[in-house]
This record gives sequence, structure tokens and C-alpha cells, in this order.
Amino acid sequence: RAKKLGRRTWQCYETNMGARVRRRQFLLGRLRRALLGTEFHLHYQPRIELASGAICGWEALLRWNCPGDGAVSPAEFIPVAEDSGLIVPIGEWALREACRQFVSWRNQGLEPGSLAVNLSPRQLRAPQLVERVAAILEETGMPAAMLELEITETAVMEEFDSSADILTRLSDLGVGIAVDDFGTGYSSLAYLRRLPVDKLKIDRSFVRALEDGPHDVAIVRTIIELACTLGLTVVAEGVETEAQLRLLNGARCHEMQGYLFSRPVSPASCVQLMHAGAGLPAALLPRPRPAP
Ligand code: C2E
Ligand code: MG
Ligand code: MG
Ligand code: MG
Repeated sequence: RAKKLGRRTWQCYETNMGARVRRRQFLLGRLRRALLGTEFHLHYQPRIELASGAICGWEALLRWNCPGDGAVSPAEFIPVAEDSGLIVPIGEWALREACRQFVSWRNQGLEPGSLAVNLSPRQLRAPQLVERVAAILEETGMPAAMLELEITETAVMEEFDSSADILTRLSDLGVGIAVDDFGTGYSSLAYLRRLPVDKLKIDRSFVRALEDGPHDVAIVRTIIELACTLGLTVVAEGVETEAQLRLLNGARCHEMQGYLFSRPVSPASCVQLMHAGAGLPAALLPRPRPAP
């Protein structure tokens, strides 16, 4: 019986694998084609400065409408693009398009703050990355000081020395470096201190845990305190509830991003938010500290 059950489990596993492989092949073919056409576009998620409640920047996030398959989530297609190397041209398209959009907002008299663009591990190790970034800044007129590149801690920790060299050269261009999904990998703040990092984005798994109890609050508090000591700006990702925001305010987090304020939205909606001067309501801002 055990044998029979075992065989059935194995078969089930096999068919799942088969389906997964086919799905990856399908996506890979479509990704190649998408790159030639106009199937990608970017949405932008606002980032809020907690001291003022105002929008202080935007993160560009890839969106893909695969014909016949609808919107495919980045969580599904980015890993396929990453494994195949297609993320290099796709990511370059995203960086150029985001810079172009940001400059066009500024030319309309808007003040979008700063622009964050994600770089995957494969992009970080691609030849000529620094030269390509410099060329895109030049070509689009994007001010380097207003661009932030987001890199996951795992990407940095793999091949630490060469990553450090690339990050230093990017930083020398004047662009900011943010460590994304902080806390999910194996890096430590001690290591990060040796890199030209400007910002930490606390992963949303920590933010979600905030309401679980005092231990989780203590972890986030400690990350924020240490990051502050190192002169880093701290952003909380995936803030969805007022309770989470209050706890983050109490821990003196600098900035937040999450559905509580806004999902990633189309460029037209970004312009509306900027025109409306959208921000967090005063009731959700950190309380003024009592006089000593
Ligand atoms: P990320 O850089 O950590 O981006 C944040 C992700 O969290 C986004 O998912 C965003 O939509 C989502 N998010 C934001 N606020 C909330 C919230 O309150 N609750 C929940 N549940 N989720 C929230 P998205 O857009 O699906 O992107 C997933 C990942 O794909 C990104 O994670 C990033 O690693 C990668 N990615 C997206 N666009 C690009 C790109 O242009 N280039 C590269 N290399 N990677 C990208
Ligand atoms: Mg990011
Ligand atoms: Mg993140
Ligand atoms: Mg993430």
C-alpha cells in the first residue's frame, strides 16, 4: 500500500514538474517576443516620508500583458527572465522607460521626489552595467542624484567583492543604492557598512509580523536603530494597516510604501496623485513628542 501511495505521489510530482517546465518554456518564448513589442509597461508605487506624510518618491515596477494569457505577475516572470538572462535587456528597458517618465513629470512642473528602479542579481553582474546606467542617465536627462537602484541583499552577498566594486562605481555616478527585501537573506548590517549603501528597505514579512507581538516589534526596532546609527534611511515595505504604521512611527522608521497608502498605479494615476498633493492624513503621522 505504501508502495502504491509512493508511486502515486511520484506521478503527481512528475506531472506537476512537467506542467511547470512547460509553463516556463511557454513564458520564455513569450518573453522573447514581448521584448520586441510593446507588451511591457511600468506602474509606480508612491513612497511616503513619515515625518511629513508627503510622497517623497516612486518605485517603478514592471507589468506584462502577455497576449492570450493576460497580466502575468512579476513574481512569476522575473525568475524566468532572470534564469534565461533576458532580464538584462528587459531591465535596461525598464530603467530607460522609468527615467524617461520621471524626467517628463519634472518637465511638466511636477516634483516626483526620487525614482527607485529594481536591479536583479543577473543585471548587477552583467558586463558594462555601470556604463549602461551612465548612458541612460545621459540619454534621458535623468539627474543621477534622483535615481535609486534597488538590489536584494542576496545579490550583494554573492560575490561580495565584485558587488562592492560595482556598487562603488554606481555610487560614484551619483545614484543612490538601496538594499531591497532586507532581512530575508544572510547579510548583516556589519557587512553592509562596508558597501556604499544609502537605504534599507525592510522586507514586508517583518512588517506583516509587527502585529504578532512584542518580539517582532523589537526586531524591527533594532534593525531601524542600527541602520540609523550607520546613517542609512529606512523604508518599510508592504505596509497595509494603520496598526503597522503606528508601530513603525513609534520605531522612528523614515519612510513607508504599501497598500495602506497606494498600490502601484499607472503613470496617469501618479500624475493625479501628485496634482492632488496626496499624502497621509495627519491622524496617521507621528505624534509630536512631548516637551521635556
Ligand atoms: P520588490 O522590489 O520588493 O517590490 C515590491 C513588491 O511588493 C511589488 O510587487 C509591490 O506591488 C508589492 N507590494 C507593495 N506594497 C504592498 C503591500 O502593501 N502588500 C503586498 N502584499 N504587496 C505589496 P510586484 O510589482 O509584483 O513585484 C515583485 C518583484 O518583482 C519586485 O519586488 C522586484 O523584485 C521584481 N521586479 C518588479 N519590477 C522589476 C524590474 O523592473 N526589474 C527587476 N529586475 N525586478 C523587478
Ligand atoms: Mg524593490
Ligand atoms: Mg522589496
Ligand atoms: Mg520583494
